[in-house]
Amino acid sequence: MKILSVNAGSSSLKFTLFEMPEEKELISGVFEKIGLKDSFYSVKISGEKTKKEANLPSHNEAFEILMKELIDNKIIEDYSEIKGIGHRVAQGGAYFDKSVLATDENIDIVSKLSQIAPLHNPAAVVGINAAKKVVPDAVQTLVFDTSFHQTMPEVNYMYAVPYEWYTKYNVRKYGFHGTSHKYVSMKANELLGKTDTKLITCHIGNGASISAVAGGKCIDTSMGLTPNAGLMMGTRCGDIDASIVSYISECENLSATEVNNKLNKESGLLGISGVSSDSRDVEDGIKNGDERCILAQSMYVKKIVDYIASYYVELGGCDAIIFTAGVGENSISTRAQILEKLSCLGVKLDNERNNVRGKVQLITADNSKIPAYVIPTNEELMIATDTYNLTK
Ligand code: AMP
Repeated sequence: MKILSVNAGSSSLKFTLFEMPEEKELISGVFEKIGLKDSFYSVKISGEKTKKEANLPSHNEAFEILMKELIDNKIIEDYSEIKGIGHRVAQGGAYFDKSVLATDENIDIVSKLSQIAPLHNPAAVVGINAAKKVVPDAVQTLVFDTSFHQTMPEVNYMYAVPYEWYTKYNVRKYGFHGTSHKYVSMKANELLGKTDTKLITCHIGNGASISAVAGGKCIDTSMGLTPNAGLMMGTRCGDIDASIVSYISECENLSATEVNNKLNKESGLLGISGVSSDSRDVEDGIKNGDERCILAQSMYVKKIVDYIASYYVELGGCDAIIFTAGVGENSISTRAQILEKLSCLGVKLDNERNNVRGKVQLITADNSKIPAYVIPTNEELMIATDTYNLTK
């Protein structure tokens, strides 16, 4: 059965088509600059990537071109072969603790949640409507970044702010990257050969979050009401003193929204290093002795270690630490720096095993008290799996 996994941004549309339940990736790609000048798309089939220019006034045209590509490449003969389309939705609030069908009622809730996810939810709705228009017979589903974290206890998801902010405006921690944390914790349980595990899953990419997962259920996570909480990230500041917002607003004569933009887009690795949000550039800066790159990396690692230590205590121990996403899967030095700082917990890095990128690998020594693994994430497959299960 062919299932399409879709991630719509305000001007982009990423997709992967799977043959399920075999989990075989048939084609993937991305449409970029939708609604803008110079729009284009790229597709990847059997590892071969091609890039094409295209007029993309809206997501509808992107879906039409995508379906035409599937036919031209003989992946399908007819649109009706696409049985399910799973849409990634950033914010499901407290409404969704699992993936659901994209009924009008559920789409309406996603739209209303745009109030707390103005950068993400409106784009998802545009993508869902475009897919429904172009492929009306497919089962459409909503897969939320937040639903895996809905098992967090109240004591972990509440903020110490006036209680009415929670009851009136839904101010609480929701967490994000849920599909990734769920995927890698399932894979970790397979590796460990048991389900009753205590895991600390580190999704460290351009956006970054850490979760504490007990028995396959999330009990705590580092992102919050929005993705700009917890760890220091590529361009996001993560946890900071909330009073900085009003202070900088007054100093620089900026609105709260403008300060918030700077905290999301000009902070993190980029803000401190002054060089780049990409950890590869920061690593190059460190090699050249750039002091701000050295500081940025030290702060980045410290924050991750702080969260791992905190979740170790919260879980009452840990069966495995998992590294995933761009930095977690690829940055040998960042993983090494993190694990070396955890030596007081009995963690013993194995440098040879850690010399790996983008594949499942144990990276600690056999006598490490806590094993650490690299497990590449696959959010697209998780979306396709949930969608496949909802078509049955
Ligand atoms: P993601 O958001 O998961 O796609 O992660 C993207 C980030 O991963 C990039 O911005 C880089 O910081 C990081 N990254 C990707 N490849 C490497 C690599 N080979 N070494 C270090 N960092 C990497």
